Amino acid sequence: MRYLLGFIACSLFVVSTLKAQSPKNSSATDIYHSIEKLNFLGTALYIAAHPDDENTRLISYLSNNVKARTGYLSLTRGDGGQNLIGPELRELLGVLRTQELLAARRVDGGEQFFSRANDFGYSKQPSETLEIWNKEAILGDVVRTIRKFKPDVIINRFDHRTPGSTHGHHTSSAMLSFEAFDLANNANAYPEQLKNTSTWQPKRLFFNTSWWFYGSEEKFKEADKSNMLHMDVGTYYPMLGMSNNEIASLASSQHLCQGFGRLTSRGTEDEYVELLKGDLPNDKSNLFDGIDTSWSRIDGGKAIGEILYDVQENFNFKNPTTHIPALLEAYQLLQKSTDEHWKELKTDEITSIIASISGLYLEASTMSPYTNAGEIVDVQIQALNRSDIDIKLKSLFLNEQSINIDNVVLNNNKSLEKKVKLTIPTTTKFTSPYWLMEKGTLGTYTVTNTELIGKPETPKAFNAIFNIEINGIAIPIVKPVMYKYAKPEKGEIHQPFEIVPEATASFADKVLIFANASSKRIPVTIKAHKDSISGTIELKYESGWQVDKNSQPFTIAKKGDEQIVFFTLSPPATENESSISPIIRLNGNEISKELVTIEYDHVPTQTVLLPSEAKVVRLNIEKAGENIGYIMGAGDEVPTSLEQIGYNVQLIDPTTITKESLQKYDAVVLGIRAYNVIDELKFKQRFILDYAKNGGTVIVQYNTASRWGNQFENIAPFKLEISRDRVTNENSNVEIIAKDHSLVNFPNKIDQADFNGWVQERGLYFPNKWADEFTPVLEMHDEGEDSTKGSLLIAPYGKGNYIYTGLSFFRELPVGVPGAYKLFSNMLSIGKDKVEKKEKIKG
Ligand SMILES: [Zn+2]
Repeated sequence: MRYLLGFIACSLFVVSTLKAQSPKNSSATDIYHSIEKLNFLGTALYIAAHPDDENTRLISYLSNNVKARTGYLSLTRGDGGQNLIGPELRELLGVLRTQELLAARRVDGGEQFFSRANDFGYSKQPSETLEIWNKEAILGDVVRTIRKFKPDVIINRFDHRTPGSTHGHHTSSAMLSFEAFDLANNANAYPEQLKNTSTWQPKRLFFNTSWWFYGSEEKFKEADKSNMLHMDVGTYYPMLGMSNNEIASLASSQHLCQGFGRLTSRGTEDEYVELLKGDLPNDKSNLFDGIDTSWSRIDGGKAIGEILYDVQENFNFKNPTTHIPALLEAYQLLQKSTDEHWKELKTDEITSIIASISGLYLEASTMSPYTNAGEIVDVQIQALNRSDIDIKLKSLFLNEQSINIDNVVLNNNKSLEKKVKLTIPTTTKFTSPYWLMEKGTLGTYTVTNTELIGKPETPKAFNAIFNIEINGIAIPIVKPVMYKYAKPEKGEIHQPFEIVPEATASFADKVLIFANASSKRIPVTIKAHKDSISGTIELKYESGWQVDKNSQPFTIAKKGDEQIVFFTLSPPATENESSISPIIRLNGNEISKELVTIEYDHVPTQTVLLPSEAKVVRLNIEKAGENIGYIMGAGDEVPTSLEQIGYNVQLIDPTTITKESLQKYDAVVLGIRAYNVIDELKFKQRFILDYAKNGGTVIVQYNTASRWGNQFENIAPFKLEISRDRVTNENSNVEIIAKDHSLVNFPNKIDQADFNGWVQERGLYFPNKWADEFTPVLEMHDEGEDSTKGSLLIAPYGKGNYIYTGLSFFRELPVGVPGAYKLFSNMLSIGKDKVEKKEKIKG
């Protein structure tokens, strides 16, 4: 991060585009760059599956070198990944990664789109992906994006012809793009979309190939390239003071939660695209060759082009205001064009260039980050002209509300400031990410308002419309109402202005495990989003469960404050899974939402409303042993889960491990990828293995095969080789092959039913070779694949036991999968049956 900031400070261009939370300022070179882009009427769309799949080098090249309007359609928001910088997972991670993509596009100059597809987890085959995604729906979303964005060329990141060679989502993205290329122009396909958009035929479809897809650089060198285009994307932009690769690396480095901060490559860089559909260009370094990308392509464009090419040709860097009359003339001509698509886009671009040239600063800001429907808030208006151009503010609207400002002349550098009242209509919807407003399926988000599909984020609820007159020509400029404040250590911050409920409620634990019949005291946190509220809260639960109180009153004096109330929940007598949710009754409204804030420096603060609920699970778990030592690896929630079923779990700092320090534990568990991420374990491994030898139980969860071999040959006391074997279908059949082993009998009897209801996958990175000392316990496989016995291996070692498991306990325990709890409890209890037997004999 330090490196990144230092780097940014050197580059004006990036400073102006990178800071998400500040208004954009444009230097004369930025303005010139915008004029070059204004004069290129061509569009490219890049398509892949996840945030970070996109080739930022090519996107930046198309946007900054070719000057094309360039978009990235990421079919998913990356909800299924892991998060290296904070606690957000699943849909919240999707919200964060959406913003990281937007941050990347602010750097490389692209635009961002999504489909409704959910990144539900790994799939080996596109057939599996497309079944879970609902192919018809997602294909429709790709068609819709093409019809709206109207790209001349489309570039797929992945190869549609090689299913099984990469993540099923990847191949699916290419297959859908291949199909949508023709469907977009077919009026019989998805006809309902044509109410709001029109058919479109892109000219060319490419696959962004590279040596990687050929297995080696040698093989790629020899490959037939007659159907390929080749570009050097390592180009340097003197205007920007950066090379294309430097911009691309900065863009990629916005994917912080995926750990994508990386070194920048500089110098020549080859990029290849293979033609899949359309005609092969004569100029095999130009994707747009033969496509009219001049102003002449639109109705009335020729005259506009004559004006604007001249502005570009004779651009006055010292005093760009000299171009205002010409830009205004082009603006007026453009309004007469019948080409609605280009008219809208280019009107926005010219408006923004005129505003930049005149240093026009327009802002509508609130004093609070959020309010409620029905409230009245103060909005601070600022309008400032920083040029000698004749500019008037004719009128001002906040959405439809007219604000009393009449025809004010904006004199050079004399700020117009005014505080006005904004009434939030009682019908205003909460401003949460639109794709999370309704419950979706495993593979697809539900979006009722089809006009929102494809958009990266929910459009801002409130906008200020400044009706400006420049040299007598009326130009409306729209600015979202935002929240502005200063942090002493960070300076001025601009953040979205949100509409939230008057109060929200949340559970501290999203899954509550009842290991036996004992009741639990459940804290519920009520948060006020308005001053002086009072109401009642109750718990909604299903039959069989019991709560001590029906309803409790609460009163909170100040906006932002919280109150915790407790309910005692008793489980049913037998095993059961259901859910509870809080219901707040306030001023005649019923609220059952929780509010989550996502706050990082590299993206704007996000406010997300989610249904507030907790899963409650009544189990019948037997366990032996009490004290568990846990060595955290890459991060998982297993310790909390074990505490829920009554274990005493202590996190072990690896640096403190000594010969004696582990003896007090009944078992020592290593968190996921511990050997991949903790170098210290190199030095402490012998103590861990000695602990097992002396009678302890060591349980190692999955590690990846990379960084393995040489460093951690002694990860297990006997030979054990990790492979990339994984079973990704969470419903795949599991066979218990060591039926008599204590691991599946004590203290809980494990049977087939315990493998029901698993989520996301069975497990990953299973060993495929092991010494005879190990007993494989389970056998499983994905459909059409060889079965693997490496998911759960146990070996006696000295007086104790060593267990290696790639089963995804880190996914199953946090969501309360009963069978996973029983099996984990058995692993922790291994060896204790002998102790019990001995005690019985003695007694
Ligand atoms: Zn991917």
